[in-house]
Amino acid sequence: MVDVYIGLGSNLKAPAEKILQARNSIADQSKMTELSFSSLYSSPPMGPKDQPDYVNAVICIRTDLSAIELLRALQKIENDFGRDRTVERWGARTLDLDILLYGDQQIEHPDLKVPHIGLSNRAFVLHPLQEIVSEDMIIPGKGEIKHLVSQCPLDGLEKIN
Ligand code: ATP
Ligand code: MG
Ligand code: MG
Repeated sequence: MVDVYIGLGSNLKAPAEKILQARNSIADQSKMTELSFSSLYSSPPMGPKDQPDYVNAVICIRTDLSAIELLRALQKIENDFGRDRTVERWGARTLDLDILLYGDQQIEHPDLKVPHIGLSNRAFVLHPLQEIVSEDMIIPGKGEIKHLVSQCPLDGLEKIN
């Protein structure tokens, strides 16, 4: 069993509801058990600006799926939520599920890089993640989360209620 952190993001069609529905879809999977879930956050889009603001959150699950099996299972959930993969990178999407951390492993696979490539410099990832990890958490290959957070501008990130 391994503890995994997954970043959730959405900016189309009632994004906050989408994030909560995605949380339920993840928790409903037989091989994924939810351990914790962050607050929801809103943030202006990264990349193309002509799209709605994002809602983001982070979930921690325990699973016995391999990292690649987990990636495929999460991509299936993205598809179930109507993810259109033809839009440009960082363009608007109904649901994005990114594997942020897979235990303490560093993974370099053509389809999967862990820790996630944006983890150390995206406020919408670091802040919800910091909420649900221990204060002295080390990100493999990147150092202490509190140090990363202190170096990362908020870029308009706001906690929702
Ligand atoms: P970003 O990865 O910068 O957040 P994105 O989430 O919009 O951008 P996607 O279109 O969701 O990008 O995924 C593009 C590819 O990223 C996927 O095909 C997947 O194989 C790959 N990928 C690499 N590492 C990861 C990871 N840790 N979690 C999810 N996908 C990953
Ligand atoms: Mg992403
Ligand atoms: Mg993604």
